[in-house]
Amino acid sequence: MNETAIPARRPPKLVVGNWKMFGTRRSSAEVRTLVRLLGLKRPHCEVVICPPAVLLPPFRQINRGSRLKLGGQDCHPLTQGAHTGDISAEMLKDAGAGYVIVGHSERREAYRETDQMVAQKAQAALRAGLHPIVCIGETAEQNEAGHTLDVLTRQLERSLPDLLDATEHAAFTIAYEPVWAIGTGRIPSPAQIEEIHGEIRRALQKRLGLQAAKSRVIYGGSVKASNARAILNLAEVDGALVGGASLKATDFAAIVYSIN
Ligand code: PEP
Repeated sequence: MNETAIPARRPPKLVVGNWKMFGTRRSSAEVRTLVRLLGLKRPHCEVVICPPAVLLPPFRQINRGSRLKLGGQDCHPLTQGAHTGDISAEMLKDAGAGYVIVGHSERREAYRETDQMVAQKAQAALRAGLHPIVCIGETAEQNEAGHTLDVLTRQLERSLPDLLDATEHAAFTIAYEPVWAIGTGRIPSPAQIEEIHGEIRRALQKRLGLQAAKSRVIYGGSVKASNARAILNLAEVDGALVGGASLKATDFAAIVYSIN
């Protein structure tokens, strides 16, 4: 890498809605509303929703030509094969996704996904031309024991694929999601979020050098319209991963437009 090169500019902020296992084709009405709201005024961020994969094709008909982008919630490391129930990154791309969440704590817990598996999924996303959103975060016990930074450093080291080090232009996002903040209404203080995001960014810079400037570090865990302004305008926060509050277009749009 050329160390004298001018550091790349930080990309625009990113607000991602994780719909989890919610929604049917009837939810198209919410997507239409969101597209209409995003069309009224240019937001100061990129906006993505990650619905269940079966809804990507119908939603793709609605978001075409709009400011709303689509993503998947998980992908298999391989392109295809005998893996019943799984979806590859290439399939998500084919269905209209531009992004994919990998390593969400719900998957790490329910399916025993390891950091190594998460790295393979992120690698698959890059291979397919998708932007990976790699989730890391400490549990309540780890937080209370004062191990937050150790846990995050380890997850970061192991959950990022080697392809990132080799691919100079690969864009990716780290989502810092304290497990204890997801769906609970509890959130770290803005000062804590700022400090942790700063540490994550320093770790990325150590590993990737100037290339780290192309990455984002977004926050996830109980973000709502009422607290979004205080979190999303922090200097070290490049956006948010939003669960529950992303299902209703007006709530999600209020979060998107809280960015100054
Ligand atoms: C999530 O599951 O990624 C999440 C952030 O959920 P919530 O916003 O509902 O806490």
